Amino acid sequence: MTDTQPVDDGYHPELVEPKWQARWAERHTNEPDLDRAKRPFYNLMMFPYPSAEGLHVGNLFAFTGADVFGRFKRLQGYDVFEPIGFDAFGIHSENFAIKMGIHPGELIPRNIVNFRRQLMRMGGMFDWRHELSTTEPGYYKWTQWLFLQLYQAGKAYKKKAAVNWCPECKTVLANEQVINGECERHPGVQVEQRSLEQWFFRITDYAERLLQNLDDPSKMDWSHSTATAQRNWIGRSDGAEIEFPVEGGEVIRVFTTRPDTIFGATFMVLAPEHPLVDGLTSPGQRAEVEAYRRTVAARDLVSRRVGDKDKTGVATGGYATNPATGKRIPVWIADYVLMEYGTGAIMAVPGHDQRDFEFATRFSLPVVRVLAGDDEDPAAPLTEAVPDTEGMRLVNSGRFDGMPALEGMREVTAWLAESGAGHGVVRYRLYDWCISRQRYWGPPIPIIYCEACGAVPVPEKDLPVVLPALEDFRPDDTGISPLARHKAWYEVPCPACGKPGHRETDVSDTFLDSAWYYLRYTSTEFADRPFDPHRTRTWLPVASYIGGNEHAVLHLLYSRFIAMVLHDLGHVHFEEPFRKFRAHGLIVKDGAKMSKSRGNVVIPDEYINNWGADTFRMYLMFLGPFEEGGDFRDSGIAGPKRFLDKVWNLVDQSSRATAIGGELRVGVVVKWNQTKKRVTEGLEALSYNTAIAALMELVNTLRESNICERRIVRDLVIMLAPFAPHFAEECYERLGGQTSVFEADWPTWDANLILEPELDVVIQINGKTRSKVRVPQGAHEDTVVAAALRDETVQRFISGQEIRKRIYVKDRLLNLVVGA
Ligand SMILES: [Zn+2]
Ligand SMILES: [Zn+2]
Repeated sequence: MTDTQPVDDGYHPELVEPKWQARWAERHTNEPDLDRAKRPFYNLMMFPYPSAEGLHVGNLFAFTGADVFGRFKRLQGYDVFEPIGFDAFGIHSENFAIKMGIHPGELIPRNIVNFRRQLMRMGGMFDWRHELSTTEPGYYKWTQWLFLQLYQAGKAYKKKAAVNWCPECKTVLANEQVINGECERHPGVQVEQRSLEQWFFRITDYAERLLQNLDDPSKMDWSHSTATAQRNWIGRSDGAEIEFPVEGGEVIRVFTTRPDTIFGATFMVLAPEHPLVDGLTSPGQRAEVEAYRRTVAARDLVSRRVGDKDKTGVATGGYATNPATGKRIPVWIADYVLMEYGTGAIMAVPGHDQRDFEFATRFSLPVVRVLAGDDEDPAAPLTEAVPDTEGMRLVNSGRFDGMPALEGMREVTAWLAESGAGHGVVRYRLYDWCISRQRYWGPPIPIIYCEACGAVPVPEKDLPVVLPALEDFRPDDTGISPLARHKAWYEVPCPACGKPGHRETDVSDTFLDSAWYYLRYTSTEFADRPFDPHRTRTWLPVASYIGGNEHAVLHLLYSRFIAMVLHDLGHVHFEEPFRKFRAHGLIVKDGAKMSKSRGNVVIPDEYINNWGADTFRMYLMFLGPFEEGGDFRDSGIAGPKRFLDKVWNLVDQSSRATAIGGELRVGVVVKWNQTKKRVTEGLEALSYNTAIAALMELVNTLRESNICERRIVRDLVIMLAPFAPHFAEECYERLGGQTSVFEADWPTWDANLILEPELDVVIQINGKTRSKVRVPQGAHEDTVVAAALRDETVQRFISGQEIRKRIYVKDRLLNLVVGA
């Protein structure tokens, strides 16, 4: 056989892509040695839920961005493990199955086949040996094991709680799933309130740790927006708990973040469900109170929390004593106070709280001002609640008059504590995690109820509790899972005493499946353990996790909580599972949000068939900054294709050139070195669009100078490989490469040949110029921020304050907005 150069007739992705996908599979290119990896790098992306529609362009944008990063790390010499799987349990899958009239046990595997095909087609560096689906008994056995770990550690408990109930879904909804009082899945369907016995996890025990670690760079390097969302969700507030005595010896307990305003508390409001309401209600008010409680009971929690424009409420006819003023103040009930939050009671300070002010105005209750600026008359009537602004002092507050508000908070709390009427406390907005779902398509919660023994955990040897194949899996209106209708499964002897018992019929929340999937990936071949200790120690915590910010507070918070519990129980060596997390941006189509109703959803398959996966990947990554997203326009995709054609021709020329030409011009050498630096830094910072732009500039320089120098073209191909992996493999081979391009070394640059001009950027703190730093021209915002934070003057002005905002004008100015 002669080894002749085939005649080149241009770049044909339809030939190149299947060839390399087949080679990768044959040569196990994407399968790192999980036991002996020297430089393990766990590259994780959020696994999809296998819908019937298949992967949409948003999925592909996210996966490609994560894959580019994994391939870049691989080229830098890491052993990269990039797994993928399917989050296939849950209500989305089940509702769709109901709509189609197909059993989810049949529908889901079908969807997975389609998803797998699409994921292979996009050219991801997936290690398919470790694919998983949360619906496999071999997986959910360990989800149930996880429940038992929490149960035995006292972190799982059952309680009756008011919940949002969708009469269409026939199940409980999380607060986030209720939009303006209606079900997110069923617009027009009013969500009701029900009281159900449910399983909860004590995530609130971990609130402070979940909060503290966010500020610990040795444990977490996360997108600012994601960390902020978690901070707000956990919602720490410092305040005081104060007791207001009522007639008959009882006390109403309230939590307030503003104990300094207690002299302005002129009435109290209780949640209609508050246990003291009955005792407080006077005979004259009883009928009105009862009617109001009935109306409120029919409403959902979310619209109550948001509150109406028109305040509603009813006086109980009872009174409490304000422990600061000693005055009797009336007690009301109103729907805007919730039993689930705080103590279910508030002290109303209408002078300084707008909601209380509106309530007081509506029902003609007294308003007292207790905070005022130096030049204000504390006795003047108010037309609205006075916001607390800097420099205000306490007024109408007895011995505390004239004290600044901040000092007042401390002093009033101390004074109340002396008399036993209150004490300082820290509270969190976070609720315990309700994991019960009264549905079919999920892992059964492994508990058996026995009349003699109560709730008994299913012994570990009996796991998994297999989800039975139910013909009729539809939920009904009882609030009891369809599993209860399956007698053969439901009735079971008690594991403790052997007497007749019955199974828990709730299944667990799909967020429990996804709270630990990253632990399972490295150990999918082990049937006898959820995650292998050696593998876990080698590969975890996850080095890089990329996903959508819509999961900032549920999935990501739950995963952190589960890792902490496992850490405390000695199962894992880390408490933060994701070392680095970056949220990707969103893709819109022609400037508009994509939706089925608009008919503008991009179906990736069509584009990949027409243009090839590599061109599609390049286009997606070139749309805009990865963390911001971009605008998908059909007209834009030809650009990346033309670019790849140009590179193909360069490679062609280079592979034919027999002799190396004369001396390279200095300009070309500088451009070559600058490009290597820019692409490397761009990839590291997920600035994929700038990295691609740098590669395009280099290609233009080479073409203008008529240069196809082998060394340069080879570097170009390697740097393109993360974006266009099949294309780069083919080019690398044509240039004489004997291995996969991913075995090559990432190009390095000569710092002396960068000749990058530097310039001064002005640094402002809160809008005032404080310093300047010298950085390379065109430096990325992160580079400038890092340089600024190294500057001593800047450090002095920031001194422990949080950076709330950063405004960067490229090559000119950086303004850091800081605050306590
Ligand atoms: Zn619904
Ligand atoms: Zn028993």
